[in-house]
Amino acid sequence: MALIVQKYGGTSVGTVEKIRNVARRVARTRDQGNDVVVVVSAMAGETNRLLGLANQLSEMPNERELDVVASTGEQVTIGLLAIALTDMGYKAKSFTGFQIPVLTDSAFVKARIRKIDGDTIRDALKNGEIAVVAGFQGIDETGAITTLGRGGSDTSAVAVAAALSADVCEIYTDVDGVYTTDPNICEDAKKLDKISFEEMLELASLGAKVLQIRSVEFGMKYGVRIHVRSSFNDNPGTIVTKEEEIMETAVVSGVAYTKNEAKITTVKVPDRPGIAAKIFKPLSDANIVVDVIVQNVSVTGYTDLTFTVGRGDYKKAMMITEGTAREIGAERVVGDDKIAKVSIVGMAMRSHSGVATKVFETLASEGINILGITTSEIKISCLIEEKYTELAVRVLHNAFGLGKPASG
Ligand code: ADP
Ligand code: ASP
Ligand code: MG
Repeated sequence: MALIVQKYGGTSVGTVEKIRNVARRVARTRDQGNDVVVVVSAMAGETNRLLGLANQLSEMPNERELDVVASTGEQVTIGLLAIALTDMGYKAKSFTGFQIPVLTDSAFVKARIRKIDGDTIRDALKNGEIAVVAGFQGIDETGAITTLGRGGSDTSAVAVAAALSADVCEIYTDVDGVYTTDPNICEDAKKLDKISFEEMLELASLGAKVLQIRSVEFGMKYGVRIHVRSSFNDNPGTIVTKEEEIMETAVVSGVAYTKNEAKITTVKVPDRPGIAAKIFKPLSDANIVVDVIVQNVSVTGYTDLTFTVGRGDYKKAMMITEGTAREIGAERVVGDDKIAKVSIVGMAMRSHSGVATKVFETLASEGINILGITTSEIKISCLIEEKYTELAVRVLHNAFGLGKPASG
């Protein structure tokens, strides 16, 4: 008998029929004699719909209240799944984030989990119940409802698995596992049987939606065995595990992209010490994560400073930067929220040269202009115009030989 945490994403619970399908899978796992904790997302499209309602009422909705609204999607799913399981003759009980409780910090919209009290779930399991837990949500010290950022149910699941020392955390989704790139935009993409936490961390942080980055961080920190697999078949999926367990061969193991980028340029910034700090301090004070930074070398005493933020933070970041620009005497601020970032990731990149050149040549051969570049030991990212995203992913995937053997 094992303790299994299963997480089902939005597309897996997108309709009442799909919720019944999930209930059958959960029941099967229970029938095999396991203790089962199920973490679920909102039904597909529901979180977007809820955020859309708030955006109709305000350009910049109050974030505390936004979390009150956004968290309701998961509450519906846990109730429905518990109803389906009960109807099938199983003992099941639903729990919201604050009933558990899942304690987080107070960074609304992107809260971090501080502690999960495992007792409520353990009591339910002792009672022979299947515990059905709302993903994505928690509660802060003051009792306010928080959410964990888009895709946050993955993190809820892995954190619950860590808190309960579960044997495995199964992430059920709409694809068979983690692929060399998004299988929905590149039909050549190949499923990986195993991937290291480090590479998964990079892929996740660079936009591969399949696991939220913080879930990978949790998995790595607490040694949670993560199995990413499909909720629509029984194929073995991808095991996320330690690097030692994997034989590396390819220089590049995956291509990731995100369309969730926005670019802000402060034009004609006086070039003197302390200016960059002046620009970025108010942004970090506002909890905005800045990603790529590009600064031109100044020959005139002025410089242009460009950086990217998540699209959700774009308006707020623009407002803050416009304030800073006035303060430091910069000429103006221009922004563009139709930016994408494509990235290649691979542990073996550390010991190979010419990888960056190949990326630049490949994009150039398709006439794709690079708007910014950032690299680490195991990744290269390029900012491009959003409309070229799919093309860029496909040509890079191909250039690094990641496709299925039959198609090269
Ligand atoms: P869920 O609703 O189950 O949480 P998500 O939409 O968050 O599912 O994540 C699954 C999606 O991630 C897939 O449908 C796929 O389009 C996308 N994806 C992006 N990159 C990858 C990748 N490298 N491997 C697998 N899926 C990926
Ligand atoms: N429902 C939330 C979202 O759409 C959380 C999740 O699906 O993981 O982002
Ligand atoms: Mg997801």
